[in-house]
Amino acid sequence: MKKTTGQCHCGAIRYEVNGDLTGVINCHCGDCRRWHGNFSAYAVARLEEFHFTRGEDKLVWYESSEKARRGFCPDCGSSIFKDNKDGKTIVLSVGALDAPTGMSHLKDIFTDSKGDWYEL
Ligand SMILES: [Zn+2]
Ligand SMILES: [Zn+2]
Repeated sequence: MKKTTGQCHCGAIRYEVNGDLTGVINCHCGDCRRWHGNFSAYAVARLEEFHFTRGEDKLVWYESSEKARRGFCPDCGSSIFKDNKDGKTIVLSVGALDAPTGMSHLKDIFTDSKGDWYEL
């Protein structure tokens, strides 16, 4: 079974996924651009295959909209999770994954609201 690990910048929060992730989804919506500083790169994991290996109690959630909240480390500020509140999945910021990820780009979403400083 595929195992993927990741952490925030300072390492206070670590997690692993024992199962398949989706390919990389770049989201160009305004919420992601403000939160990440640019468009975001995500992969989706099944919640039942995800668990924290360190620092679960540290994680802080920010309610970014009625449909989503974003999880970050209060020590280093890394934004490492998005939760679409479906109770089944957790969205991982792929920049936080440990290399090699073996992943590749799947798709771009919300391209209508992309920033005007880059081309797709
Ligand atoms: Zn951290
Ligand atoms: Zn987005």
